[in-house]
Amino acid sequence: MTSSSLVQIKKSRVLEVDRSMHSSGITLTPGMNICQTDLPLDWYQEEFKPYVQEYLSLPDRTPETVLPWMDRYIVPALDYFGPKLMLLAHYYMGGEIVKLVERYGGRIADSYELALQAERRPEVEVFVESAVHFMAETIAILKHPHQQVWITNPKSGCTMEALAKEDMVLPLFDELHERYGDDLMVICYMNTSGRLKALAGRTGGAICTSSNAYTIMQWAVAQNKKIFFVPDQHLGRNSGRKVGIGDDETFLFPGGWEGARRPLSALSGAERDRLDRSRLLLWGSYCGVHMVFTTTQVEHWRRQGFRVLVHPECTVDVVDAADGAGSTKYLWDALQQAKPGDKLAIGTEGHFVKNAIAYAKDKGVIVVNVADVPGAGLGCGCATMSRNDPPHLVAMLDLLRQGRAPALNRVEAGDVVDEDTGHRERLDAASRAVLAAEARAALERMIALTEAAKR
Ligand code: SF4
Repeated sequence: MTSSSLVQIKKSRVLEVDRSMHSSGITLTPGMNICQTDLPLDWYQEEFKPYVQEYLSLPDRTPETVLPWMDRYIVPALDYFGPKLMLLAHYYMGGEIVKLVERYGGRIADSYELALQAERRPEVEVFVESAVHFMAETIAILKHPHQQVWITNPKSGCTMEALAKEDMVLPLFDELHERYGDDLMVICYMNTSGRLKALAGRTGGAICTSSNAYTIMQWAVAQNKKIFFVPDQHLGRNSGRKVGIGDDETFLFPGGWEGARRPLSALSGAERDRLDRSRLLLWGSYCGVHMVFTTTQVEHWRRQGFRVLVHPECTVDVVDAADGAGSTKYLWDALQQAKPGDKLAIGTEGHFVKNAIAYAKDKGVIVVNVADVPGAGLGCGCATMSRNDPPHLVAMLDLLRQGRAPALNRVEAGDVVDEDTGHRERLDAASRAVLAAEARAALERMIALTEAAKR
């Protein structure tokens, strides 16, 4: 068998790829290294271990070896489910995994597009998501009753979300609500649990993503309420500045357990006055992946003739120093519009930039990671997103086909999974229905505002 035939599977056996969502731009070429990291065997769920053992014993990680192994399990699953199955992934995942999901007819998208898939595709009954838990949970909140959402690794969390668990945020929210009553509104970034999204819904607030944060913040300001933005302090501050909320009207609380343990009574009189005057209150979480970027790096690439574009999860200083800032979609659009000879330095998640570099090469565009300044260290990939690898995808689909998929991988609204132990806390059906309705209200407000802004 030739190497090119090894990377083909029969067209009739794969789902149609929706080209309205862009391709990763990564091609599975013979000899390339497929897997970014092999994780220790004891890290996998028991049911997945036989698949992992097979995977680890493959002689190498090239498409010539890995793809026939994956086909052996995945093609029968695709045959079994047909169009009732949809595979999804976020493009912050390792490029090779992105391409594998695409190869089997799956769709790659940002968190906004991922969230819409169940609602917009009632014909699909089973969604299998290879990304982080809050993304799968959001799909589960918006899904139709007959649909199921599964995640290939339930312990795939998000460090930003981990610093904004319900138990951390609620004590502060309760105090703020006591002080400001219905004048307080919660705006949640997509990177939150369904429990916090429900809190946004209860206060008449909305969800936002990095691609629509400006639109949502504009709407929030027009409501004339105090905005409590959770969890990313940098996206909150950057978006607030875009709608005219300056630093003097912005109040930052600590994130994580420090935020939970800091009562308002611990604030000085001057701090309380400033809190009362502030229009934007920020929970102090952040994404470590986006904290590696500095103004020195930005200036380095500008001196080399690069146009520097960064994600708004970067600090205000970095966003101000760059030539542009925006969501993953904004960054990808800039890449697609780039002309041969253009030079772009991109500051966001490392796998995305790696995909961008591969995509740009064919266009004659030079792309670098903003953090890759000689002597200044390397940009980071999202380690939690990358907890989804080829054996996770293979095992999930094969076990689903056999009707033996682990219950832990099924995602429902309100689920909380301990990323260390894998222990899942699930609400009873009645509480789940209430939570889903509240979170859905906040998500639907985001969708309505975002779609209206596109017209
Ligand atoms: S890149 Fe950062 S914010 Fe995004 S999922 Fe990973 S840890 Fe969370």
